[in-house]
Amino acid sequence: MQDQKTTNNKIANKNDLTLIRSELLAATSHAFLGRTGGVSPPPHQSLNTGLHVNDNPGNIKKNRARIRNCFSIENKKMVIVTQVHGAEVVDIKNNLPPETTKADALITARPSVAIAVQTADCVPILFFDPNKKVIGVAHAGWRGTLNKIAEKTIAAMVKNYKADPADIHTALGPAIGPCCYGVSTEIIGDFKDKLGYDLKDIRGATDGDKNLDLPGINKLQLEAAGVAPYNIDQTRICTACRSDLFFSHRRAGAAASGIQTGRQLSYIMITNNPEGY
Ligand SMILES: [Zn+2]
Repeated sequence: MQDQKTTNNKIANKNDLTLIRSELLAATSHAFLGRTGGVSPPPHQSLNTGLHVNDNPGNIKKNRARIRNCFSIENKKMVIVTQVHGAEVVDIKNNLPPETTKADALITARPSVAIAVQTADCVPILFFDPNKKVIGVAHAGWRGTLNKIAEKTIAAMVKNYKADPADIHTALGPAIGPCCYGVSTEIIGDFKDKLGYDLKDIRGATDGDKNLDLPGINKLQLEAAGVAPYNIDQTRICTACRSDLFFSHRRAGAAASGIQTGRQLSYIMITNNPEGY
């Protein structure tokens, strides 16, 4: 029995863009991006890709173009949808869905189509089945995690592409860690009572009774869906601890004060020319 993969994800930089890649996804083009290298002024400085956070749309257009240029993604082939903290998985077969499409996960077997999610504390998850050549991306906040979005993404890859969960490689990107994510007793209760998790799984390595380990719970859900522990790469970088490099909704005080912050992008794409790990 192999151990959980020990990650040594390097925080890298390309054209001033902060990025993290996973060795498990080395056969694809992919990146968990940070907040650096864009044009947006504070409080969205600087690589904001989110349309719904009161940034100038012109800045967002420029930031998204920088990302496409940096990773050789064709114009109009980067798919971003409207995330609603739900558990809807959209399978992209022919037409690319417009940005108004409401979903929190995307899957596709189409080459040269970059599927993306936007986050600022929530967990971005990338999926790749090297046998069936199908990829996926999911956005898991506490609501999506309660709705088991990671398991539902795997289920869609199995149903639509006959993927075997044991073959699927996954990586969890930078997200708020249990160190910085205190939540209400009600939310803790939902994870305990509705999903049946132990408090030690919910709070991770902390001893706080209200701390929530979102990346840790998503890892458990991937394992429950049949993903091998050594095929789960955990970045374990906390967005609130590293708000110098990553947008953090919690660190910006966005929930309490109404101050906005940006959204960073994570994407994966099937290509014949992966940039490697
Ligand atoms: Zn932290």
